Amino acid sequence: MSLEKLAEIIFPNIDKTPEYYMEKYPRRNLKEGAMVTRYAPSPTGFQHIGGVFAALINERLACQSEGVFYLRIEDTDQKREVEGAIDDTIATMHNFGMDFNEGMTGQDTSKGEYGPYRQSEREEIYKTFAKDLLRKGLVYPCFSTPEELNELREMQIANKLTPGYYGEFAKYRGLSPEEAIEKINNEEQYILRLKSPGNIEKRVEFKDLIKGEISFPENNQDVVIIKGDGLPTYHFAHAIDDALMRTTHVIRGEEWLSSLPIHIQLFEVLGLERPEYAHIPTIMKNDNGSKRKLSKRKDPESAVSYYREEGYPVQSVIEYLLNIINSSFEEWRAENPNEDYHNFNIDLGKMSKSGALFDIVKLNDISKDVICKMKPEKVYENYTAWAKEFDKEMCGLVTSKESMMKEVFNIDKEGPKPRKDFAKWNDVREKVFYFFNELFYNEKAEHVELPKNVELEEAKRIIEAYGKAYNFNTDKDTWFEELKAVGIELGYCANRKEFKLNPDQFKGMIADVAGSVRSAISHRANTPDLYTIMQIMGENMVKERFNKFLDL
Ligand code: GLU
Repeated sequence: MSLEKLAEIIFPNIDKTPEYYMEKYPRRNLKEGAMVTRYAPSPTGFQHIGGVFAALINERLACQSEGVFYLRIEDTDQKREVEGAIDDTIATMHNFGMDFNEGMTGQDTSKGEYGPYRQSEREEIYKTFAKDLLRKGLVYPCFSTPEELNELREMQIANKLTPGYYGEFAKYRGLSPEEAIEKINNEEQYILRLKSPGNIEKRVEFKDLIKGEISFPENNQDVVIIKGDGLPTYHFAHAIDDALMRTTHVIRGEEWLSSLPIHIQLFEVLGLERPEYAHIPTIMKNDNGSKRKLSKRKDPESAVSYYREEGYPVQSVIEYLLNIINSSFEEWRAENPNEDYHNFNIDLGKMSKSGALFDIVKLNDISKDVICKMKPEKVYENYTAWAKEFDKEMCGLVTSKESMMKEVFNIDKEGPKPRKDFAKWNDVREKVFYFFNELFYNEKAEHVELPKNVELEEAKRIIEAYGKAYNFNTDKDTWFEELKAVGIELGYCANRKEFKLNPDQFKGMIADVAGSVRSAISHRANTPDLYTIMQIMGENMVKERFNKFLDL
């Protein structure tokens, strides 16, 4: 009776029951095996690549199984909330090809029958469950002040005891309802704690869908379930939400693994059906030989915005992440080069249990493949869209020469070994700048690259001779024969074997002559096919390049 009274005093306005909500949010009518998953970020504004990683796993599994993927906003820590963060999350996920079937659709809007999907709007629900537990004596008000809790902690640490509010240290656990009511009537501040039924001598066995069989001691901490501001803690909220939203699989970061004993216990105490759990390994980085977490402060690649700013196609990032999820993705991709990545089925059981290593080199390789497979028109379109935002000068130049640029993006694309020049749109400028006089002639002389064995003066001699003989209107074979003839005339060797036998009799190889021409027109030692570049540039530009090279 007095427990009833205590529950009434604490939650006078709560008139519903857990059963009411269980009926209101019935089991979903989905086909056998369909997974209901969710992305449940706190709206703190910063989009971490780990968030996209977690969302991708949840989204893929729901989609593969014809289930539901929904967005729940976990905003019970209102101090950390950043304005616009919900819209930003939705836009980011959309940009990465992920749309939610259900949940928040904007700052103040949502869709679906299992809402509200924002924890701050679910207060009444959490309180209903808390009131029920209070009535049953499974939860109690705790009046310890922050100072008291600090002292307790210090004492426990000094005595090498496990810190926390539990067992004999749980001062208010044994308070009678009458004593509690008296304190509340005296306006003493309190929070609600779970009266943990756990015993650390006992172990809980558990099967995580990524980590496999695990076992840990039962939770014996009287964890907080409702804070001083009336809002629930993550532990309490997620258990109720996932039960009421009929989540079948909670797939979240492994930082939550250590809280699992609390969560398992909460589901038991609440009498709610527990979803399956999978804990995703944290994305790590190799930092001078040692592994560490990707850091928001030190690693720009931890922010999702980095990929957009650098101009990684979304598909590249997604394929890279799929590769971390299941290493078999790489093989699948090799066998199905043109298939949509959505047709690759991910499998939690095949995921690495330990920290996933973030490897930008691998990302670049994957991205080069992705861009390499794009048609030149698509490369043009994507590049200009990126440049419009991040490199206005290039955007202006490239769009003023649209057809030329499409030819440029087409160089060496056909054939068995197409070129893989770009990993991201930010790489394009450096690789195509020489098609634009505005950029080319602004380059400082020290950036001009020459063939390895050729000095500038010798390169000029070559260009002087070649410039006179140069014939624009020829096919590639004739062009090369003519170049060779000039080279031989100047003392270069056209035959590798011959050159190897008598290197002293020659100034170098024909490759050095071609390299000098390349350098004169592009200032670079490596470019795609030289003949094609010269054809795209046109006769006048090429000749001008030769003349200006002589003045260097
Ligand atoms: N709001 C929690 C977080 O951002 C979600 C964890 C979960 O997915 O349950 O870490």
